[in-house]
Amino acid sequence: MNASTARSPRCYAIVPAAGVGERSGAGQPKQYVTVAGQPMLAHALAALAAVPRIVQTLVVLSPADDRFEAALPGYAGWLARVGGASRAESVLGGLAELRRRGALDDDWVLVHDAARCLLQPEWVDALIDACDHDAVGGLLAQPVADTLKVGDAAGRVTATVDRRDKWVAQTPQMFRLALVERALTAMGAAATDEASAVERLGLSPRLVKASVANLKVTWPEDFALAERLLLTRG
Ligand code: C5P
Repeated sequence: MNASTARSPRCYAIVPAAGVGERSGAGQPKQYVTVAGQPMLAHALAALAAVPRIVQTLVVLSPADDRFEAALPGYAGWLARVGGASRAESVLGGLAELRRRGALDDDWVLVHDAARCLLQPEWVDALIDACDHDAVGGLLAQPVADTLKVGDAAGRVTATVDRRDKWVAQTPQMFRLALVERALTAMGAAATDEASAVERLGLSPRLVKASVANLKVTWPEDFALAERLLLTRG
C-alpha cells in the first residue's frame, strides 16, 4: 500500500491576505481594517477555525507585511510571507508552502478571501459535504437575483444580460491541491479565483449555494454594512 492509499485526503485552508485593497479607500490593507471589534482577517480565520474537518489554515501574507503579529496577537495557526503580485501568485505560494508542511496531491484545499469576513462555519461545512466526493471540487456561490446590465465608459446601459443561469462566485473554493496548482500555474495572474482556472482545464466546478451575507468587503461603504451584519448576528 503506498502513502496515498494509506490515508484519507485532508482538508486544508489557505487565506490569501497579501493584497493592498486599493478599491476599499481604507488607506491600509483592508484585511486589517477593524470591523465589529476585530480585523476583518480575524473574523474569517475564526470561521475557518470552527470547522473541525479543516486540519490547518495557512495565512499568506506579503513578504513586506509588518502588521500581522500586532493586528492578530493571539494567532497560533500557520503563516507564510510568500504572497505575490496577484491573488493567483499568492495562492500558488501558499500551495507550495502547504506541500513543504506535508500536504499531498490529493488533499483538499479551501481557498478563502480575507475580505469575506462574514463567513459562517455552516456554509463551509455545506461546501465540504457537497465536494468531498466530487471529481472536480466546487465553490460557494449565489444565484443572481438582480437584472444584470452591461454598461459603457459613459455610464450608459448597452445591454441586458439573461440572469437565469448566472451565479456570483464566492469563497471558499475547494479543489484538490494538485489540480488547483496545475490550474493556477497554467492561467496565471488572469485568474481572479480558483474556479476560473479549473474551468480553463475543461472541468466544471460544483456550485454550492451559500448566502448573500457572504459578501466580499470591497468598496468603502461595505465596511459599515459588514459591521452591522456581524453585530446583529451576535
Ligand atoms: O483584490 P481582491 O479583493 O480580489 O483580493 C481577494 C483576496 O486576495 C484578498 O484576501 C487579498 O488580500 C488577496 N490577494 C493576495 N495577493 C494579491 C492580491 C490579492 O493575497 N497580490
